[in-house]
Amino acid sequence: MIEDKNQQRTPLSELGEFALIEHLTKQFNIKHTSTVKGIGDDAAILNFEDNKIVVTTDLLIENVHFDLSYMPLKHLGYKAIMVNLSDVYAMNATATQITVSVAVSNRFPLEALEDLYAGIETAASLYNIDLIGGDTTSSTTGLLISVTAIGEVDGNDEVYRSGAKPNDLLVVSGDLGAAYMGLQVLEREKEVYKVNPNNQPDLEPYTYIIERQLKPEARKDIVKLLKDLEVKPTSMIDISDGLSSEILHICRQSEVGCDLYEEKIPLDPQVITVCEEFNIDSTTVALNGGEDYELLFTISPEDYPKIKANPSLTVIGHMVDNSMGVHLVTRVGSKIPLKAQGWKNFTS
Ligand code: ADP
Ligand code: MG
Repeated sequence: MIEDKNQQRTPLSELGEFALIEHLTKQFNIKHTSTVKGIGDDAAILNFEDNKIVVTTDLLIENVHFDLSYMPLKHLGYKAIMVNLSDVYAMNATATQITVSVAVSNRFPLEALEDLYAGIETAASLYNIDLIGGDTTSSTTGLLISVTAIGEVDGNDEVYRSGAKPNDLLVVSGDLGAAYMGLQVLEREKEVYKVNPNNQPDLEPYTYIIERQLKPEARKDIVKLLKDLEVKPTSMIDISDGLSSEILHICRQSEVGCDLYEEKIPLDPQVITVCEEFNIDSTTVALNGGEDYELLFTISPEDYPKIKANPSLTVIGHMVDNSMGVHLVTRVGSKIPLKAQGWKNFTS
C-alpha cells in the first residue's frame, strides 16, 4: 500500500555500522543540561542533581505490534517514542531522554531507516527529548524496535497506581476507542487492497480514528495542565490496553473498588458512527480497545471544582470501598462487574 516503486533503495551493507549510526543520528541535537554525554562513547552520562529519575522501556515487534503494510515507517518511529513517553507522563514526570535500539533484516534499505528516524526526530523535537544512545543490529526476519525513556520528577510529584482512596473521582483525558476503530478500518482496507490493488479507498470519513491509530500523542499537556490547576492526582496510569484493564490495575494496587458510568465515557462522534458501521458496541470498544494513550487518574473530591470546566478532562466514575467491587453502571442503571477482556483474548 505504501511502497513507492520509484524510491531509492540503498542496501544497508553499503555503509558500515558506524557510518550508519552516524548517518541516522546526526540531525539530533541535545537540549537538556541533564545530558552530560549523549551518543558517541561507550555509554551516555546523565546528571539529574537531586531529582528522582523515571525509567521505562518498550519493545515493538513487526507483525506483533505493528504491520508495515499500513503503518508508514515515519509514523512507526513517532509512535514508538509516544508509547514510552506516555508511561513517563503517567508517573507525573517530565520526559527528558530516550535510547532507541533497532534490529533490521536486509530487506530494509537505508531509506527505510531514514524514514523511521525522521519520525523519531519529529517526536524528539516536539516533546523536547534528547536521543542519547541505542544499539543497531541485524535480524533474520523483520524489524524490531526497543525504546527506553528517561524522565525526572520534581520534588515529590510522582504519582503511582496505588494511591486511590474511596470517594476519589475517576478522570480520563481526551476520548476513547478511536485508535482501535482506526485499526479496524485499516485492517479492512488491507483486505480490500489484497483483492484489488487498484482500488483507491476513500478514507476521508475516518481521518480522526486513523490518525489516532497511526499517530498517537502522549499527553504531556495533561501533566502540565494538572500542575497549572494545582491538582495532584492520587493515582494515575496511561491507557495502553483499554480503559477496563487500566481501571482494574488502579483498583487492585490501591485496594479500592470503582463505579464507572457508561454514559460518561467520552467518545468522538466519528467513533460512534464507525462503531455503527462495523456493528460493534462503542462501550465495548472504549473498555477493551486500547492504544488510546490517554491518562486515567483519580483525584480527591475537593479538587473537583478545579477540573470540572476543562474540556480535556471527563469525570467517568468514582472509587468505592474495596468490598463493593469494580463495576460498570450501564445507561439503564444496571451494574456489570468489569473484566479486563482485551481484544487479543477476545479474538483468539
Ligand atoms: P558498542 O559497540 O559499545 O555497543 P555501538 O557502536 O553500538 O557501541 O554504539 C556507538 C554509539 O552509538 C553509542 O553511543 C550508542 O549508544 C550509539 N548508538 C548505536 N546504535 C544506535 C541507534 N540505533 N540509535 C541511537 N544511537 C545509537
Ligand atoms: Mg552497541
